[in-house]
Amino acid sequence: MAQTGDPDDAVPPPGPGFALALGHAWRTFGITWSTSRSLTLLIAALTVFVALLPALALYLSKLVIDGVVTAMDSGAAGDRDLALIWVTAEAAALALLLAARRLLVFYKTRLHAELGFAVTSIILRKSAALSLAQVEDAAIQQQLLLARQYAASRPYNLVNRLFDGAQQFLTLISVAALLWGFSAWLFLLVVAGGLPLFIGNLRFAGTAYRFYTGRSPQMRERSYLESLITTEAAARERLHFGFGDELLRRYGDLFESLHGADTALHARQAWIAAALGVLSSAVFLGGKVWIVWVTIGGAISLGQMTMLVGLLKQGQANVSSLLAAFNGVVEDLLYVANLFAVMELPEEDRTGGATEGPDPADGLRFENVSFSYPGRKRPALDSVSFHLPHGARLGIVGANGSGKTTLVKLVTGLYAPDSGRVTLDGLDLRQWQHAALHRRLGVMFQPFMNYKLSARDNIAAGLALAEIDEADILKAARLGLAEELIGELPDGLDTRLSRHFIDGHDLSGGQWQRLAMARAYLNEQADILILDEPTAAMDPAAEAEFMQRPLDGKSVILISHRLSNLRGADQIIVLDKGRLIEAGTHDALVAMGGLYAELFESQADPYREG
Ligand code: ADP
Repeated sequence: MAQTGDPDDAVPPPGPGFALALGHAWRTFGITWSTSRSLTLLIAALTVFVALLPALALYLSKLVIDGVVTAMDSGAAGDRDLALIWVTAEAAALALLLAARRLLVFYKTRLHAELGFAVTSIILRKSAALSLAQVEDAAIQQQLLLARQYAASRPYNLVNRLFDGAQQFLTLISVAALLWGFSAWLFLLVVAGGLPLFIGNLRFAGTAYRFYTGRSPQMRERSYLESLITTEAAARERLHFGFGDELLRRYGDLFESLHGADTALHARQAWIAAALGVLSSAVFLGGKVWIVWVTIGGAISLGQMTMLVGLLKQGQANVSSLLAAFNGVVEDLLYVANLFAVMELPEEDRTGGATEGPDPADGLRFENVSFSYPGRKRPALDSVSFHLPHGARLGIVGANGSGKTTLVKLVTGLYAPDSGRVTLDGLDLRQWQHAALHRRLGVMFQPFMNYKLSARDNIAAGLALAEIDEADILKAARLGLAEELIGELPDGLDTRLSRHFIDGHDLSGGQWQRLAMARAYLNEQADILILDEPTAAMDPAAEAEFMQRPLDGKSVILISHRLSNLRGADQIIVLDKGRLIEAGTHDALVAMGGLYAELFESQADPYREG
């Protein structure tokens, strides 16, 4: 079980160590490589090309100026032609640089889109594979949200910055090689000049990450408020009760507090960057003054001076770009660390291998089953035992929060008990193969989903959204009392069930419930039907029709607040705060005079039917 009781377990690590950081960078490259080898290779090749051209161009510019000076001095046609050749070569190098940069932008844009899609797919695949316990874990929800929010940007940013860093580094080496030939001091000056900016940015990266991720709860609150103001589901109550203005005010307050903090953070960063920028420029200016000084002294040629000033400028730009890329990488690494934490969430292997139990006549048993939700003191189910033999009907009664829905989650194997066992045909559910277990169960959950897909999909969801014969879909619709409703839909089964789509069609609560019931009935092989308040939203006629339906040898677990529905049950269990407090047939329970009898009395009175 992958449950993490302590939310802190799931919070991304505060900052990766160096080895971990390298590992994350390498892994992100791995994802990039498998997303598109050709794009990765193209970008790598263009990066090297773009990296080496600036130094070449600067060297050519030196040759041009020295060539011009020589030609002016000698006046020889040969010198003039040579100068012209150099200037053409320099122009060609610059043109190539421009073209290669443009191509690089194009291929990177494509990589951005493809990588964003690949990473989002990884996250969605992972989310789909998580257990219910994981999905219901607030800390995991937060991790998923963060991963999804930054899926398209951060992994790409990381890769892009690493390419950028490599490009700046290569340029720097080529520039350094030229500088070194003239003076090691100038080379050191380039490095020293970039250092202050680097340190300033590095400090900021961690702060920004903690700042932005720490605000996830407010961001969630913000998007929830947005949805309350814009969605149709909330519109009726919002308009009637008139709380739209108050929601807007809260939204405004939230924005103010988020935005205010944003501005403060950015302002601090801007001031620090400005101060450090001035410091860096002062260092470089010193180098330039020195070059001009030695040129005037006649130690170097005009061409050399131009090249050196150019190299210094280029080096300065490289150092600060390299450092900016590095700092960006540190920040991106913190975000991809969260992505990898999501990717590493354990996928619980819920499937045993068994497709049948040793005692096929035994049916379903709860043996002293207890279950607590993480972080909850009171167990949602506390030592519950009962037996549902094949072909029998079990009714479950209990107030809200008494554990009925939790019991359904345990019967369907979505949760495993903390202690005790749930068995089917004499075999612990944990040993059953997932698919085999699901073939045996037809379930209508509470609350059920209204899928804004076609009516056909709403039913086919009951069998993994597979291609299902129309006749089978219609049969399930009949059993779910949805046949007439489908007949009235403009496009029958293919009607899109949402007003948000052109030609879409919306349903009433009771109609949606019929589709949910059809979904539960689609799995014809199921010999145990679990129906959680299946008729709550239905009209009385439909409810009566449903309750009188023969079961064809299937077992039924029926949860209902309307106790008259349970009269035909072979056994009824009454849950109270997670404990099973009464069990027996309707008549026996009424005779017992306990909670069931009391509830039944209160419901029967107005109709005088009991
Ligand atoms: P019922 O279906 O009878 O209304 P439930 O089985 O939904 O009751 O809930 C039983 C208890 O478990 C309640 O106290 C409820 O608050 C708690 N509970 C239900 N679902 C969760 C959950 N996902 N996380 C934590 N507690 C839960």
